[in-house]
Amino acid sequence: MPELLPQKSNTNQEQKAQAKFGLFASNSLLKQLTSMAVNLLFPPRCAGCGQIDTYWCGACQHEIAEMRLSEPIEPKYPLQGVTATAQHIGKIREAVQALKYGNVPELAKPLGEKLSTCLKQQDWIIDMIVPVPLHTKRLAERGYNQAQLLAEQVASIMGIGCQANALDRIRETQSQVTISGAERLENIKDAFVANSQFVNGRSILVIDDVYTTGSTMSACGEALHSAGATTVYGLTVTAAGHSITHKKEIVDEYHHSRA
Ligand SMILES: [Zn+2]
Repeated sequence: MPELLPQKSNTNQEQKAQAKFGLFASNSLLKQLTSMAVNLLFPPRCAGCGQIDTYWCGACQHEIAEMRLSEPIEPKYPLQGVTATAQHIGKIREAVQALKYGNVPELAKPLGEKLSTCLKQQDWIIDMIVPVPLHTKRLAERGYNQAQLLAEQVASIMGIGCQANALDRIRETQSQVTISGAERLENIKDAFVANSQFVNGRSILVIDDVYTTGSTMSACGEALHSAGATTVYGLTVTAAGHSITHKKEIVDEYHHSRA
């Protein structure tokens, strides 16, 4: 097994030189020590309540399991159905924010469980799960696409295939959190293209973290239909845009979370 092959050993001379300069520790050992030191200095904390030594505690998971959407979301063309697991408030909002801006990819697991529970309650027939793609620029900044992590969790729990390359962003868009509803639609229109090789003749579930005005979901739906998808549904962790959160709150929250 090639991955188990020992790394090329250093010559005695190199080892002596490294020992002399305190560089004898291997890179992986150094990484482990650094990560242990970081964990000691900054232990993980629950994103919901601050409890130490966990990214998300059982009590917070229990609390979000009880949270619901206050009113159904009317699906926008061309989606057949859209829902979110809860309003964008309280503990679940904390979890979404930490996943999105706090560099805590671990939160995709509990949120993926919440998404799966919600999906089981729909009468949707799904062939494939597809995450909303992230800008390449933002992907580089964040290191991961939170929608993809969520989609992969749901796919694994539900036993449905997930295809992260089914949708592509074909142009950069302005950050959706800083602009109004009408501007959002214009901003996101034609931003996506779908790969017919993956989606043609299939019923697709698009997964994202937050549902705001629905313009991102609609744009994904149009791209998927153009590539031959038969039906498109949308599912997000929270819904922020309809009725409870207006633009200023979203912008405030965005700046707060970036601070
Ligand atoms: Zn907690």
